[in-house]
Amino acid sequence: MTTKELANLIFPDITKSIEDYEREYPERNLPEGAKVTRFAPSPTGFMHIGNFLSATIDYVLAKQSKGIFYLRNEDTDSSREIEGAVEYIRHVLEHYDMVPEEYEYRDINEIKGIYGPYIQSERKTIYHTFIKYLVSEGKAYPCFLTQEEMDSIRESQAKDKRRIGIYGRYAKYRNLTPDEAAERIKSGEKYTIRLKSTGDFNKKFKFNDLANGEMEFPENDIDIPIMKSSNLLPTYHFAHLVDDHLMRTTHVVRGQEWISSIPVHYELFKTFGFKMPKYIHIPLIQKKDGEKIRKISKRLDQEARMTYYEEKGYPALAVIEYIMTIANSNYEEWREKNPEAHFTDFAFSPKKMSSSGALFDLEKLDNLSKNYLSKLKAVEVYDLLRNWSEKYDQDFCTLIKEYKDYTIDILNIEREQKKPRKDYATLSEIKGQIWYMYEELFTNVKYEFDDRFLKEEIKKVVTTYFTKYFKTEDDKETWFNKMKEVATELGYCADMKAYKENPENYKGNIADISNMIRVAVTSKSQTPDLYIILKLLGTDRIKERIERI
Ligand code: GLU
Repeated sequence: MTTKELANLIFPDITKSIEDYEREYPERNLPEGAKVTRFAPSPTGFMHIGNFLSATIDYVLAKQSKGIFYLRNEDTDSSREIEGAVEYIRHVLEHYDMVPEEYEYRDINEIKGIYGPYIQSERKTIYHTFIKYLVSEGKAYPCFLTQEEMDSIRESQAKDKRRIGIYGRYAKYRNLTPDEAAERIKSGEKYTIRLKSTGDFNKKFKFNDLANGEMEFPENDIDIPIMKSSNLLPTYHFAHLVDDHLMRTTHVVRGQEWISSIPVHYELFKTFGFKMPKYIHIPLIQKKDGEKIRKISKRLDQEARMTYYEEKGYPALAVIEYIMTIANSNYEEWREKNPEAHFTDFAFSPKKMSSSGALFDLEKLDNLSKNYLSKLKAVEVYDLLRNWSEKYDQDFCTLIKEYKDYTIDILNIEREQKKPRKDYATLSEIKGQIWYMYEELFTNVKYEFDDRFLKEEIKKVVTTYFTKYFKTEDDKETWFNKMKEVATELGYCADMKAYKENPENYKGNIADISNMIRVAVTSKSQTPDLYIILKLLGTDRIKERIERI
């Protein structure tokens, strides 16, 4: 029996050739320099911040080069698949407005692009064609090692401090004749298909990673499995070769944990004579934990999960802004010079990634987000708030929808000015800061009056002010002058400087007066511009609130 016959025995239904697929998926017709990137998550968990970083870089690289950003579902490990993970990936990409040009969504029966299928489990025939070629050329072989045998090989290798894997003398089945292999297959023995490596571990080759520069690796000499026995799907390495070749990927952005697989990928691409894509291995995202710096973890850190940002209500663009600062250290400088530009206009440079690991800093995200929210128009914040609360706080959503214009006015307090207020980093914080403006929420309130003043005194100040002085139509200057007048009338000092010189001459000062008024109507001792708050509340509501206290 020849290796070709053995290949036919293993893959009797495969009739197409690699050339057929080369024709079916030709080089993409794109402008010079256009990059083809892919986001290729495995649906084995909910998306984490590291995935998001690579997706963002993929998106930016493709957009700014007029290339293609596509989504590939790497679902070859069905036993570890998590329900809803695929849908969530789609949701995240939509939420952050990084929609891929090509994708395949089985649940809604939607496919876009001509380089698919974009779901690995649907590409079995394609993979088998490539594996069949290797077997027929004698470059791959069926391996009959059982799990127990492999475990014991691994154990002994670990004990003797040898390299782990099936290579050299451990590759027991690499020299089986096609007849011997065929016999075992026919008798129903289980097998995987392994690459018959031709590499020499003592030889080195150079490899250029766009983020990490030139690196040197020993050649691969491990007969890595390329097809699993369980579901006949390829391993990650083999699927990477076939998919990124046929989908004409030019740039692979992936986590640094894959760097150690470069020798394997190098050998696979060489075996087929395919050009390797360019690689950008991105640093792990780390976090400060007390004195230690460690890898961010989905189990330990809520901010490692993408769900966290949506639940908290970080605006999508603020999260992207932050991620871009992790991607490239010069992003902030660029942003300062280009405040209005879209983030994809930034010339991302893989070389400017920190190779030692990116430190995640939630405080910095908060600052960026506060800044971002403070620069929006009130109506834009309103829209974000409504969308967020629709999902996470329905009662509040109903309320702000009922009082839409009023809410926009509230959100507009001290907004469109040179130095707008930066009160909140997330949408979930807003309610806690404006609740007192709504009667529906103004229940069970705790007044933050200054206890240096007696209740009777406060009552006198507040009633005098509202009955004698306050008028909603007053402009700010008049309003402020009246505040001074009521202060003077009741024995408080209207001028802070004069007060500081002789505090014993007065009951208090103008700040005490405005504080009493502020607390009386809002219950809070600190609020944004009191003048506008009073105007927005209006006479009737103020009256009701005064009566309550
Ligand atoms: N499916 C792999 C993962 O989720 C993708 C790695 C890659 O982008 O090549 O880790």
